[in-house]
Amino acid sequence: GIRLEEELIRIRQFLQAAEIDFLLEGNPKLTNTSLITENVLSMCIKEAVTNVVKHSNAMACWIMIQPSRTDLTITVKDNGTGISGDNIYSKGHGLQGMRERLEFVNGTMDIVKGGGTTLVIRVPNAFK
Ligand code: ATP
Ligand code: MG
Repeated sequence: GIRLEEELIRIRQFLQAAEIDFLLEGNPKLTNTSLITENVLSMCIKEAVTNVVKHSNAMACWIMIQPSRTDLTITVKDNGTGISGDNIYSKGHGLQGMRERLEFVNGTMDIVKGGGTTLVIRVPNAFK
């Protein structure tokens, strides 16, 4: 498993190599999230950014980390071509795999189209 903070270091390098600007907002040092949930989040962000590089033709990619009292929202956004077509889950395994792993930790994923692609990932905080 991998911590979000470490994954974001690799993501920064990956996007730099692809010549896509990277903007990070929020603190990747998670304090209220279980390790299993953090591992799922790292995997999801890695796949989301791989998709940005492979499919979007974007100039920039934003990752926002927003904790609240009850959950954690992570948004991965690009300003590329956007996801086209209807059955987006049938084209590959990445998005479907993200959805399944998130379900396992009671998380959700919403895909917003317009001005590129925005993935909104929500997971519950761990109770301490
Ligand atoms: P795999 O992830 O299995 O290697 P894949 O990347 O094609 O293959 P998904 O990750 O499930 O599969 O994505 C499904 C499809 O959605 C992609 O084939 C692509 O057409 C589209 N897509 C996904 N992310 C983006 C994005 N950020 N911008 C534009 N299109 C996207
Ligand atoms: Mg993919």
